[in-house]
Amino acid sequence: MGENPYDRFIQLVDFDLHYAQSEKKFQAQAHWCLELENQKVAAQAEVATARDSVHQEKKQAALLELEITGHAQEIRKKQAHLDTVRDAREYAALEHEIAGLQKKIAVLETAFFEIWDRISAREEALKILQDTLAGRLDALTQQQDGCIQEQKKLEQELAQLAQDRVTLKKNVTPEILALYESRRAQGDEAAAEALNGSCNACGSTLPSGDFGAIKRHVVMPCQRCRRLLFVRT
Ligand SMILES: [Zn+2]
Repeated sequence: MGENPYDRFIQLVDFDLHYAQSEKKFQAQAHWCLELENQKVAAQAEVATARDSVHQEKKQAALLELEITGHAQEIRKKQAHLDTVRDAREYAALEHEIAGLQKKIAVLETAFFEIWDRISAREEALKILQDTLAGRLDALTQQQDGCIQEQKKLEQELAQLAQDRVTLKKNVTPEILALYESRRAQGDEAAAEALNGSCNACGSTLPSGDFGAIKRHVVMPCQRCRRLLFVRT
């Protein structure tokens, strides 16, 4: 721990570099947890879509069945009516209507069986998909649990760092701290080392007078990148 205010300022700068890295790590972790959640949702949606398409086909099959039943009822009614007709012409007309309805039923039945073939195939595919995705979902859930645990750990670390920072700040000269914090509010790296007469962040050569002052621990910004310059002693 630096004993003089200048060292304590540099200590805060170094601390903030570490802090920024921890924040990035936390953000990357949070992003990864979200990505895992998205993958889970997508897998679940895939199953839901497949299940829904089976459901829709079954609804259509039920409608066809209803139509077939209606026609069959009508045929039975007409057949009962055949016994009560008065002449051959009426009989022939009724028989013609019955034949027409039977034809309709035959067409509907073909469609009905086609749909059921499709339903069987889709149900089979759905079962395979569910089995495949069940394994994938389990793996994703496990990954996600680990991810969230790590995220919580990083979050706690960040909270600790935020507390540590409050303590560190107390040791820095208020004027320098105010300069540093206002610069820091505009971007994450607010300070840079002055090395061999240049700013180590943007590379610009410092006026020799400035560099001389910086070496005497005067804190001033780099003319180009505006970072506060300091030297390590
Ligand atoms: Zn610079």
